[in-house]
Amino acid sequence: MTSSLDPQPSAGFIDLHSHTNESDGSLTPEELISLAASTGLAALAITDHDTLSGYEKARPFARQAALDLVCGIELNTRMSAAALRSSRSVHLLAYFVSGQPANSFLTWLENERTERRSRNQRLARKLRSDGIDITVEEVEARGRSLAGRPHFARILVEKGYARNSEEAFRRYLGEEAPSFVPRESKTAEEAIDIVRSAGGVPVVAHPIRLGLPRAQERELLMRYRRAGLLGLEIYHSEHPPELQAYYHQLAAELDLLPTGGSDFHGAIKPDTQLGTGINGNVRVPAAFLEGLRQAVAA
Ligand code: AMP
Ligand code: FE
Ligand code: FE
Ligand code: ZN
Repeated sequence: MTSSLDPQPSAGFIDLHSHTNESDGSLTPEELISLAASTGLAALAITDHDTLSGYEKARPFARQAALDLVCGIELNTRMSAAALRSSRSVHLLAYFVSGQPANSFLTWLENERTERRSRNQRLARKLRSDGIDITVEEVEARGRSLAGRPHFARILVEKGYARNSEEAFRRYLGEEAPSFVPRESKTAEEAIDIVRSAGGVPVVAHPIRLGLPRAQERELLMRYRRAGLLGLEIYHSEHPPELQAYYHQLAAELDLLPTGGSDFHGAIKPDTQLGTGINGNVRVPAAFLEGLRQAVAA
């Protein structure tokens, strides 16, 4: 195996993880396509949370720019109690679910959006009961139909409750914060099954956020592989180089397809650049997309 960090400029590079303002990114689909084209990306996947509408809106602009646009989506799932005594979340990326995905998939998306809205209400109520001046209406005005915690974070920063988004998550919104409000979600195994039934390719996003020791993480990924998982996101802005190399090797050992992306959110995460991540720590070879396409053809 070649070093995981070998750049392959001749083959072009791609980004398989990005967000528009149809979820919690700051750029419109049109702006994101134009940035991808000017960055020289050979392909881009739009992977908004819980919605395909950013991808749908971007399609005509991608066609104009002759950019290879890949359909993706990022969904919130949880580790099952059987897998681990933990309710930690697992972000699942699903590729190639456009067109006419199975009803089970569309119903799931709708339920996720409803549950998100109800979580936002509970979270606003919880913050208000802790003496913080925030309403769900304010949050939804920022995030439209897909308001989420990043929109809460912006308001908390603007009102002086936190200096920046990281602090807002640490003190009020993150899984470790006392005011954290969880969302109901499917287990990762259930979600993987639904994605496969819809003809999609399920991939575990940014495994660093599973927050597990290596042995447990490996066991969990093996369990997901048996449930139908097909890929692992090895390159990500939050993965330091040595971890990227480790995940590359782990993916090969577990027979999971390697994927990668910046997880670009625009001004919401200003340090993360499309295509290249944080200080150039991401560079995804076009061959990764070929691997995904072969999996979906098989
Ligand atoms: P939600 O989908 O509303 O629960 O919000 C999840 C989103 O919040 C993630 O997709 C990230 O964009 C962002 N996020 C989660 N944890 C953090 C954190 N610790 N710092 C900054 N942003 C975060
Ligand atoms: Fe996000
Ligand atoms: Fe994520
Ligand atoms: Zn993401």
